[in-house]
Amino acid sequence: MTADGRLVFAAKTTRTFCYGFLGVLFPVYLAEHGMGARQIGVAVTLTLLASAAMTFAIRRPAERYGARVALLDAYGAANSRSSSGGETRIIRMGYGPDELYTQWAARSLPVWQEFFVRIERPLFHKTGVLWVSDDADGHLSAMVRTMGEAGVVCERLSSEEIQKRFPQLHFPDVTCGVYEPLSGVLMARQSVQAVVQDAIEHGAEYFNASVVPPNGSGRPASVKTGSTTPPTATRSTSSSSTRQSIRRR
Ligand SMILES: Cc1cc2nc3c(=O)[nH]c(=O)nc-3n(C[C@H](O)[C@H](O)[C@H](O)COP(=O)(O)OP(=O)(O)OC[C@H]3O[C@@H](n4cnc5c(N)ncnc54)[C@H](O)[C@@H]3O)c2cc1C
Repeated sequence: MTADGRLVFAAKTTRTFCYGFLGVLFPVYLAEHGMGARQIGVAVTLTLLASAAMTFAIRRPAERYGARVALLDAYGAANSRSSSGGETRIIRMGYGPDELYTQWAARSLPVWQEFFVRIERPLFHKTGVLWVSDDADGHLSAMVRTMGEAGVVCERLSSEEIQKRFPQLHFPDVTCGVYEPLSGVLMARQSVQAVVQDAIEHGAEYFNASVVPPNGSGRPASVKTGSTTPPTATRSTSSSSTRQSIRRR
């Protein structure tokens, strides 16, 4: 659990204890002062309503002061210089013997799919992915083994099976292939921009700003940018230009 998480947990525990204790103490106190059951009921109900109103009233300013997320990109999300820039990327699980990449891709695909369902945009096309090669190709065998170990659905196909299932393809030197039926095409630019949009809608702040590479060692306490867009940043001035510093919370 993070330091913020522990703080929230401690505050919530204290609040719940005090609140519960008051729920017992307050009616007893009112009864001792001669109030009847009906009056006590009204007083406790009003207290609860006032508490709900107070919680609502302080929620907005509290959000402003709580931990917040800042997204920065020098050229804009999914810009044409970025490696995710471009209309499409193939999302597939096969990375030869690379377990880590296979596992990452296998974890990433359902997360994308859930996201697209939530935002109601069909930005993944389950076309399937076919790898073709020959029997001497160790990369393909390692890929099948790695995907099997990671629980990825895939089929090893002979050249005859490839011909039968994909008659539009004809490679004379292909003797085998691997088919990933659940993989496909991700609309890369739109997907990355949708993630940024969704983050903004959930309270993140986005800045078109270039991050100045940090120097020194360890975790940097703040991030300096070279842009002059005024975000929620603390300003510091360098000799050549106005820079911003966005503090890590
Ligand atoms: C032509 C091509 C085809 C590819 N095809 C596939 C494929 O089919 N399937 C697949 O899985 N992978 C593919 N890849 C790889 C895949 O696209 C990348 O691994 C992936 O997009 C990387 O995403 P990223 O968010 O890490 O980096 P990026 O998409 O490059 O994002 C990095 C962002 O950081 C910003 N930035 C950089 N420096 C700074 C700075 N100092 N301050 C502020 N912002 C900064 C950039 O503007 C950029 O927007 C392909 C890559 C290329 C180039």
